[in-house]
Amino acid sequence: MKKHNFYAGPSILSEYTIRNTADAILDFAGMGLSIMEISHRSKEFVAVMDQAQLLFKELLEIPDGYSVLFLQGGASMQFCMVPYNLMSKKAAYLDTGSWASKAIKEAKLFGEVDVVASSKESTYSYIPKGYELPPDADYFHITTNNTIYGTEIREDLDVSVPLVADMSSDIFSRPLDVSKYALIYGGAQKNLAPSGVTFVIVKNNILGKVDRAIPTMLDYKVHIEKESMFNTPPVVPVFAALKTLEWYKQQGGVEAMHQSNLAKAALLYNEIDRNKLFRCNVEDEADRSIMNVTFVMDADYQELEADFLAFATEKGMVGIKGHRSVGGFRASIYNAMPLTSVDALVKTMKEFEQKH
Ligand SMILES: *Cc1c(COP(=O)(O)O)cnc(C)c1O
Repeated sequence: MKKHNFYAGPSILSEYTIRNTADAILDFAGMGLSIMEISHRSKEFVAVMDQAQLLFKELLEIPDGYSVLFLQGGASMQFCMVPYNLMSKKAAYLDTGSWASKAIKEAKLFGEVDVVASSKESTYSYIPKGYELPPDADYFHITTNNTIYGTEIREDLDVSVPLVADMSSDIFSRPLDVSKYALIYGGAQKNLAPSGVTFVIVKNNILGKVDRAIPTMLDYKVHIEKESMFNTPPVVPVFAALKTLEWYKQQGGVEAMHQSNLAKAALLYNEIDRNKLFRCNVEDEADRSIMNVTFVMDADYQELEADFLAFATEKGMVGIKGHRSVGGFRASIYNAMPLTSVDALVKTMKEFEQKH
């Protein structure tokens, strides 16, 4: 039976990405060698890195004056690399979930952190609004998509200080106005590639302002200068990322992905709202993520949770168990997820409702 892959991360990749990466693992670029056993300085791999950077810029319409980097250490490494490079004295953070609070914890090692608002008191079920930013903050950090809680900031905020965003789980899900951001980063393993590569989009002129010494591997300027080749890059994940970017372009680019994501999300949220057995964790529709849809059993049907999980598993649904901090269910419907899989989940929910 075909599995419907709702894992939150690492997560579904396009068949195009997987097949082409599998081919390159056997024979890369007609070299008669695997991509796993060639020099990252070979002209064949340098071309992969160059194309990946170019296509990243093209798809997101990244303006001049920005660099795209492929690094290691995951989004978690960016939690410290961002303040290392950007915080002189003070930074503002929005606390919208576990990842945001992990970023806050690291930033505190480098200076004063002003947590301008938090939705922690309601298990992060909404995006705080109406907060004020300290005008002297070196930057304002947000997590655009809260993978665990199913909330998302689905617009490009207009703020008065440089904006930094963790977009690990919603990069390429919608068109972006990159000019509104000073820096965007994320682990690739949700919407781009297998784990092992981290993307960073950085506005060049925000760098070089802090006084502290920065270790070479953590210095964005070094990686910009060396075009993500200061040390050995994660060759296979970068190759897979390039394939996903090619696939996005074939699908019609980021706007087409956005339309498809909106359609998938609407289908699933409508069913959760309609079905008497289920309830969405996120009440405000404007805050609902189009990437990670979290839901629980309605109060009257709590005892059916394990039954539904078993029923859905029987129907080929994989990875819908909610994160331990929220419980219930989470369906991650990233870019590569076809509408047919969301439709299969909706049908499963309807069938389960009829049984009860
Ligand atoms: C998955 C995730 C992370 C952690 O990424 P790593 O690459 O494992 O460090 C951070 N932020 C968000 C929003 C995520 O979804």
